[in-house]
Amino acid sequence: MKILAIGRNYGDHIKELDNERPEEPVIFTKPDTAILKNNEPFYYPSYSNDIHHEVELIIRICKEGKFVKEEHASKYYDKIGLGIDFTARDLQSKAKEKGLPWDIAKGFNGSAPISGWLEKNEFENLQNINFSLKVNGALKQEGNSSLMLFPIDYVVSYLSKFFTLKTGDIIFTGTPKGVGPVLIGDKLEGFIENQKLLDFEVK
Ligand code: MG
Repeated sequence: MKILAIGRNYGDHIKELDNERPEEPVIFTKPDTAILKNNEPFYYPSYSNDIHHEVELIIRICKEGKFVKEEHASKYYDKIGLGIDFTARDLQSKAKEKGLPWDIAKGFNGSAPISGWLEKNEFENLQNINFSLKVNGALKQEGNSSLMLFPIDYVVSYLSKFFTLKTGDIIFTGTPKGVGPVLIGDKLEGFIENQKLLDFEVK
Protein backbone atom coordinates (compact mmCIF):
# COMPACT_ATOMS: atom_id res chain seq x y z
CA MET A 1 0.00 0.00 0.00
CA LYS A 2 0.98 3.62 -0.31
CA ILE A 3 0.26 6.84 1.51
CA LEU A 4 -0.65 9.89 -0.54
CA ALA A 5 -0.89 13.24 1.17
CA ILE A 6 -2.11 16.75 0.43
CA GLY A 7 -0.25 19.81 1.68
CA ARG A 8 -1.76 23.28 2.05
CA ASN A 9 -5.42 22.25 1.96
CA TYR A 10 -6.66 24.70 4.62
CA GLY A 11 -6.35 28.47 4.15
CA ASP A 12 -5.62 29.21 7.81
CA HIS A 13 -2.68 26.75 7.86
CA ILE A 14 -1.24 28.21 4.63
CA LYS A 15 -1.20 31.62 6.36
CA GLU A 16 0.51 30.40 9.52
CA LEU A 17 3.41 28.94 7.50
CA ASP A 18 3.45 31.89 5.11
CA ASN A 19 2.98 29.60 2.11
CA GLU A 20 1.36 30.39 -1.24
CA ARG A 21 -2.23 29.33 -1.85
CA PRO A 22 -1.96 26.52 -4.45
CA GLU A 23 -3.99 26.38 -7.67
CA GLU A 24 -3.88 22.58 -7.62
CA PRO A 25 -3.36 20.28 -4.61
CA VAL A 26 0.22 20.03 -3.33
CA ILE A 27 1.01 16.30 -3.28
CA PHE A 28 3.59 14.28 -1.41
CA THR A 29 3.90 10.64 -0.36
CA LYS A 30 5.05 8.64 2.63
CA PRO A 31 6.29 5.05 2.51
CA ASP A 32 4.39 2.29 4.36
CA THR A 33 7.22 2.20 6.93
CA ALA A 34 5.95 5.59 8.17
CA ILE A 35 2.81 4.04 9.64
CA LEU A 36 2.26 3.65 13.39
CA LYS A 37 -0.90 1.80 14.43
CA ASN A 38 -2.75 0.88 17.63
CA ASN A 39 -1.53 4.00 19.45
CA GLU A 40 2.06 2.78 19.43
CA PRO A 41 4.43 5.45 20.81
CA PHE A 42 6.26 7.76 18.44
CA TYR A 43 10.02 7.69 19.01
CA TYR A 44 11.54 11.13 18.47
CA PRO A 45 14.28 10.74 15.84
CA SER A 46 17.82 12.01 16.38
CA TYR A 47 18.07 13.81 13.03
CA SER A 48 15.50 16.50 13.83
CA ASN A 49 15.00 19.07 16.58
CA ASP A 50 11.68 20.37 15.32
CA ILE A 51 9.07 17.66 14.70
CA HIS A 52 5.61 19.21 14.25
CA HIS A 53 2.19 17.60 14.66
CA GLU A 54 -0.32 17.99 11.82
CA VAL A 55 -3.65 16.32 12.60
CA GLU A 56 -5.55 15.30 9.47
CA LEU A 57 -8.62 13.40 8.33
CA ILE A 58 -7.53 10.31 6.42
CA ILE A 59 -9.45 8.05 4.05
CA ARG A 60 -8.93 4.46 3.00
CA ILE A 61 -9.19 3.43 -0.65
CA CYS A 62 -11.41 0.37 -1.26
CA LYS A 63 -11.21 -0.06 -5.03
CA GLU A 64 -8.58 0.14 -7.75
CA GLY A 65 -8.93 3.17 -9.96
CA LYS A 66 -7.24 5.63 -12.26
CA PHE A 67 -8.59 8.75 -13.93
CA VAL A 68 -11.54 8.60 -11.53
CA LYS A 69 -14.09 11.33 -12.18
CA GLU A 70 -14.90 13.55 -9.22
CA GLU A 71 -18.58 12.54 -9.34
CA HIS A 72 -17.59 8.87 -8.97
CA ALA A 73 -14.80 9.39 -6.44
CA SER A 74 -16.85 8.53 -3.35
CA LYS A 75 -17.13 4.90 -4.55
CA TYR A 76 -13.37 4.53 -4.24
CA TYR A 77 -13.09 4.98 -0.47
CA ASP A 78 -15.11 3.43 2.31
CA LYS A 79 -13.50 4.49 5.58
CA ILE A 80 -12.49 7.64 7.43
CA GLY A 81 -9.96 7.97 10.21
CA LEU A 82 -7.51 10.33 11.81
CA GLY A 83 -3.79 10.57 11.20
CA ILE A 84 -0.85 12.69 12.28
CA ASP A 85 1.36 13.89 9.46
CA PHE A 86 4.49 14.31 11.56
CA THR A 87 6.80 16.73 9.81
CA ALA A 88 10.46 17.44 10.54
CA ARG A 89 9.98 21.18 10.04
CA ASP A 90 13.72 21.92 10.27
CA LEU A 91 14.54 19.43 7.50
CA GLN A 92 11.58 20.62 5.45
CA SER A 93 12.61 24.28 5.71
CA LYS A 94 16.14 23.40 4.58
CA ALA A 95 14.76 21.46 1.61
CA LYS A 96 12.34 24.25 0.68
CA GLU A 97 15.12 26.86 0.75
CA LYS A 98 17.13 24.85 -1.74
CA GLY A 99 14.12 23.79 -3.82
CA LEU A 100 14.79 20.15 -2.93
CA PRO A 101 12.22 17.37 -2.31
CA TRP A 102 10.65 16.98 1.13
CA ASP A 103 10.83 13.20 1.35
CA ILE A 104 12.91 12.78 4.51
CA ALA A 105 11.04 15.61 6.26
CA LYS A 106 7.68 13.90 5.70
CA GLY A 107 8.32 10.21 5.17
CA PHE A 108 10.66 9.16 7.98
CA ASN A 109 9.91 6.12 10.17
CA GLY A 110 6.87 6.64 12.37
CA SER A 111 5.82 9.87 10.64
CA ALA A 112 2.29 8.60 10.01
CA PRO A 113 0.43 7.47 13.14
CA ILE A 114 -3.08 6.40 12.07
CA SER A 115 -6.24 5.60 14.02
CA GLY A 116 -8.70 2.78 13.54
CA TRP A 117 -11.34 3.28 10.84
CA LEU A 118 -14.91 4.56 10.89
CA GLU A 119 -17.40 3.71 8.17
CA LYS A 120 -17.75 6.59 5.72
CA ASN A 121 -21.48 5.95 5.52
CA GLU A 122 -21.89 6.79 9.21
CA PHE A 123 -21.30 10.44 8.29
CA GLU A 124 -24.12 12.53 6.87
CA ASN A 125 -21.78 14.97 5.16
CA LEU A 126 -18.07 14.25 4.75
CA GLN A 127 -17.42 17.91 4.09
CA ASN A 128 -18.70 18.86 7.53
CA ILE A 129 -16.66 16.80 9.98
CA ASN A 130 -15.09 18.33 13.08
CA PHE A 131 -11.71 17.01 14.17
CA SER A 132 -9.14 18.09 16.70
CA LEU A 133 -5.87 17.39 18.48
CA LYS A 134 -4.96 17.80 22.13
CA VAL A 135 -1.38 17.79 23.38
CA ASN A 136 -1.04 17.06 27.10
CA GLY A 137 -4.75 17.78 27.46
CA ALA A 138 -4.61 21.23 25.81
CA LEU A 139 -6.48 21.82 22.55
CA LYS A 140 -3.88 22.61 19.85
CA GLN A 141 -5.63 22.03 16.53
CA GLU A 142 -9.26 22.18 15.57
CA GLY A 143 -10.59 21.80 12.03
CA ASN A 144 -13.69 21.18 9.99
CA SER A 145 -13.58 19.48 6.61
CA SER A 146 -15.85 22.18 5.17
CA LEU A 147 -12.76 24.44 5.19
CA MET A 148 -10.73 22.26 2.80
CA LEU A 149 -9.63 24.16 -0.31
CA PHE A 150 -9.88 20.91 -2.28
CA PRO A 151 -12.67 18.61 -1.06
CA ILE A 152 -12.09 14.89 -0.60
CA ASP A 153 -13.72 13.79 -3.87
CA TYR A 154 -11.68 16.31 -5.84
CA VAL A 155 -8.50 15.11 -4.14
CA VAL A 156 -9.27 11.45 -4.94
CA SER A 157 -10.00 12.30 -8.56
CA TYR A 158 -6.87 14.47 -8.87
CA LEU A 159 -4.54 11.91 -7.29
CA SER A 160 -5.91 9.09 -9.47
CA LYS A 161 -4.61 10.86 -12.59
CA PHE A 162 -1.03 10.37 -11.46
CA PHE A 163 -1.14 7.37 -9.12
CA THR A 164 -3.29 4.27 -9.64
CA LEU A 165 -5.35 3.98 -6.47
CA LYS A 166 -5.30 0.53 -4.90
CA THR A 167 -7.28 -1.05 -2.10
CA GLY A 168 -5.66 -0.25 1.23
CA ASP A 169 -4.02 2.99 0.10
CA ILE A 170 -4.41 5.87 2.55
CA ILE A 171 -4.88 9.55 1.74
CA PHE A 172 -3.98 12.29 4.24
CA THR A 173 -6.25 15.24 3.42
CA GLY A 174 -4.34 18.17 4.95
CA THR A 175 -4.05 19.94 8.27
CA PRO A 176 -5.83 22.99 9.70
CA LYS A 177 -3.97 25.71 11.62
CA GLY A 178 -2.35 25.18 14.98
CA VAL A 179 0.59 22.98 13.95
CA GLY A 180 3.45 23.05 16.41
CA PRO A 181 6.35 21.13 17.89
CA VAL A 182 6.08 17.96 19.95
CA LEU A 183 8.48 17.05 22.71
CA ILE A 184 9.54 13.79 24.29
CA GLY A 185 6.98 12.93 26.98
CA ASP A 186 4.04 14.59 25.21
CA LYS A 187 0.68 12.81 25.08
CA LEU A 188 -1.29 13.29 21.87
CA GLU A 189 -5.04 12.70 21.65
CA GLY A 190 -6.96 13.01 18.38
CA PHE A 191 -10.71 13.29 17.95
CA ILE A 192 -13.30 13.08 15.19
CA GLU A 193 -16.30 14.93 16.58
CA ASN A 194 -16.29 13.78 20.24
CA GLN A 195 -14.82 10.36 19.60
CA LYS A 196 -11.23 9.81 20.69
CA LEU A 197 -9.43 7.93 17.93
CA LEU A 198 -5.76 8.58 18.70
CA ASP A 199 -4.07 8.44 22.09
CA PHE A 200 -0.32 7.92 22.14
CA GLU A 201 2.93 9.24 23.57
CA VAL A 202 6.10 10.75 22.19
CA LYS A 203 9.11 8.85 23.58
MG1 MG B 1 0.09 17.66 6.42
